[in-house]
Amino acid sequence: MKITNVKVELFDWKTEPWKTNDHTQFGNTVQLGVVTVETDEGISGNSFLGSSRVGADHHAPGLIEFIKPIILGRNPQDIGAIWSDLWKMNRSVSTYVIGAIDICLWDINGKIANQPIHRLLGTCKESVPVYSSTAFHETKEQYAEEALIFKNKGWTAHKIHPHGNPAYDIEICKAVRDAVGDDMKLMLDSMWSYQYEDAMRVGRAIEDLSFYWYEDPLVEEDIYNYKKLHQKLDIPIMSTEYAPGRFYGMAEWITEYATDFLRGDVAVTGGITPMVRLANLAEGFNMKCEIHHGGNSLNNVANLHITMAVPNCEFFEFFPCTGANMFGLVEDINFDNGYVTAPTKPGLGYEIDWDLLRKGHTATLE
Ligand SMILES: [Mg+2]
Repeated sequence: MKITNVKVELFDWKTEPWKTNDHTQFGNTVQLGVVTVETDEGISGNSFLGSSRVGADHHAPGLIEFIKPIILGRNPQDIGAIWSDLWKMNRSVSTYVIGAIDICLWDINGKIANQPIHRLLGTCKESVPVYSSTAFHETKEQYAEEALIFKNKGWTAHKIHPHGNPAYDIEICKAVRDAVGDDMKLMLDSMWSYQYEDAMRVGRAIEDLSFYWYEDPLVEEDIYNYKKLHQKLDIPIMSTEYAPGRFYGMAEWITEYATDFLRGDVAVTGGITPMVRLANLAEGFNMKCEIHHGGNSLNNVANLHITMAVPNCEFFEFFPCTGANMFGLVEDINFDNGYVTAPTKPGLGYEIDWDLLRKGHTATLE
């Protein structure tokens, strides 16, 4: 089997704008890319490119110029060899591009085997709980109200993205804990907001509130201060979502005792291939690896396959507040009862809603 063509189609992706604690804006109209890798045997693979923050138009030209020539004519079953060559291009294209191609290849391989991708990887489980991940809210009362909505639906875990102001962030965490009671698992994702001293103060406070993990209190390259923080706090610390080097940067975080969990996703880490390796690396140290949301619907599906195929990922992340991750599939992942289940159809196993997308077609690059 040979790869005969690679193309990216761009479509309008309209979402409600939303922001995070550093006032980064997501949403409005961006471009969603659908990447297609075609083969000489009629089987093709797809992935989505771009997020509601950075549209596919920022990535697609590099994919066509730098990546397409590397994979044309290759056997799409040589995923490991192809991924190694793609990774060497990370100085020229983003990991989002590398990830998009890798996901297409896994989709092809699932279709060849007539199995869901998690079956090829080695299925470990059939379902995991979802945690609701908040957007920015103006007041602590709004954070508490949102958490209660999911608690009342029977969801078991909830993650807060606070303001990035240490004193008020503690207030938010208290308000949410008071609202939901002791049973719900709560996590705090401070999104790289603090200096070491404030990270300590917030960490101590959420330890007292029995939070489940403390995510990204410090900037993503600050191993020195993460190590200090890790020595002093009892609450599990989770970093490495955007750690430099991605999979190849993980060793130092482990050997320096700078984090309790590893983290990544198919877009930021650069595909299913390195994300599985990253989770397996964590497993070798009896560490958990919690997978970050993928920024678009088909990336989330790819994340879902990995979640089901590794033993050490407890949850699936979902942003119900924004809807930003749910666009372009005939049926998206079902989160209704607070759990997600393993895909059952070949490849990625979720059908692209071409009728919907074509209404907003803007360009084809090949
Ligand atoms: Mg995060």
